[in-house]
Amino acid sequence: MMKEYSGGCACGAVRFQWSGSPLAMYNCHCRSCQLASGSAWAPLLVVARQVLRIAGTPRQHRPPKAQGNHATRLFCAECGSPLFALPDNNPAVLLVHAAAMASADAFKPVADIWTVDALPWAHMDRHIPKMFKSPPILEPEDQVSL
Ligand SMILES: [Zn+2]
Ligand SMILES: [Zn+2]
Repeated sequence: MMKEYSGGCACGAVRFQWSGSPLAMYNCHCRSCQLASGSAWAPLLVVARQVLRIAGTPRQHRPPKAQGNHATRLFCAECGSPLFALPDNNPAVLLVHAAAMASADAFKPVADIWTVDALPWAHMDRHIPKMFKSPPILEPEDQVSL
């Protein structure tokens, strides 16, 4: 049996679910994730786009190209919760904001990415790898152990 995962925004207008393990989890420090999350970094799960089911219609925002890890942002138009990002460099995956999950405690980040944009006071786990910009592109069949 593949595991089922679910989550949604703060007000419940947008819900999502998928089955099977995410491909990876990263803490992304890029400027675009800082702005989208209102925080020093965004914890993101990499999920194959083909397995994710979304109920409700998130609003989209496309930040200017200069803002780090370039991706279209999807968030709840009612409550503002950040939910997903669609990375330009890999149409096969979607990034799920881990905090929107019902069970974000099931995973842990495998690396800090886009540390080029990291804030000097961002406290990172010294025991996981640091990547200056984007991590290697993951295909739906790839999985980094979580
Ligand atoms: Zn909402
Ligand atoms: Zn980012």
